[in-house]
Amino acid sequence: MSNVMGLKAKLGLDVFKEDKEFHIRIKAGKEKDIRLKNTVLVCPAGLYSENDNGEIIIGVDGCLECGTCLLVCGPEVLEWHYPSGGAGVQFRFG
Ligand code: SF4
Repeated sequence: MSNVMGLKAKLGLDVFKEDKEFHIRIKAGKEKDIRLKNTVLVCPAGLYSENDNGEIIIGVDGCLECGTCLLVCGPEVLEWHYPSGGAGVQFRFG
């Protein structure tokens, strides 16, 4: 039996407190932008996915606030800000 924790188990240690609204938004008309497609590969929480229309969508649960998606896409594609105080991720490394 291995003592190595998988990604889902590690993410399961974190606590996420919901904000009034999600802190990341894909800008209108950018859903098929090639930069946005890269987020499917780089988001460590796996929040981005491509739907049947070839548009990228984002899930709202489990954001680690790492900013990688913003670095990949830039502010032309994503509206990104940290959650309000007290909301968002709390890291627990067990
Ligand atoms: S900030 Fe990080 S964890 Fe959150 S959606 Fe962007 S890449 Fe994923």
